[in-house]
Amino acid sequence: MIKILHSLLDIIFPKICNGCDHTLSAHEKIMCTSCRHQVPMAGFHKTNADTLKKIFYGRTDIEEATALLTFQKKGITQKLLHNLKYKKQEEVSAFLGIWLGAELAEIAAYKKADMVIPVPLHKDKKRKRGYNQVSGFGKALAAALEIPYVDDVLIKVSKTDTQVFKGRLKRIQDPQVFMVSKAHLIENMHILLVDDIVTTGATLENCAEKLCQHENVKISIATMAISL
Ligand SMILES: [Zn+2]
Repeated sequence: MIKILHSLLDIIFPKICNGCDHTLSAHEKIMCTSCRHQVPMAGFHKTNADTLKKIFYGRTDIEEATALLTFQKKGITQKLLHNLKYKKQEEVSAFLGIWLGAELAEIAAYKKADMVIPVPLHKDKKRKRGYNQVSGFGKALAAALEIPYVDDVLIKVSKTDTQVFKGRLKRIQDPQVFMVSKAHLIENMHILLVDDIVTTGATLENCAEKLCQHENVKISIATMAISL
């Protein structure tokens, strides 16, 4: 009965590829096979390229840094992340986490991580969106690496304001204020810090700095995508 109901639901609301909007076939999930093959990969964990790590040189010490995908304007990655953040397609997050997790679980340097911590969302923003878009990604990575997912240690305490200036909308970003609570949980830990997309690295740097203020903390980074 439930199976029939599911099939009916699929007919009434066919599942759509998050990359190209085509209808997914029964064995496809989140993305169609064509988009999966076409989506540009970053995969620095495979090539040992220091492309992402280099962003943090001279700013904060990072052990390992990788991203799964490359972000291009109007590309598949942009569509995926847009659907994840603004179209309630929360399951995109775990999909990317399972994909990257399977690869990182094969690499000794990433297996040294002790816990996964996501870049937090301000609670107002989380309430508005209904979820932290990084959460499924982080949980899937933690499961693949068989380490805990810890989302109550690093907390965001500021919020983004929208203000009207001279008749046009201008987004004013408050300085992002991250705080660490329960610091004893991260002492002597190698933390895999995860986020959706890295551009300038400012947010991740900010988080890494806060975490590194505590006893013998090491940081590695994994993101869904990098904007080059
Ligand atoms: Zn597609």
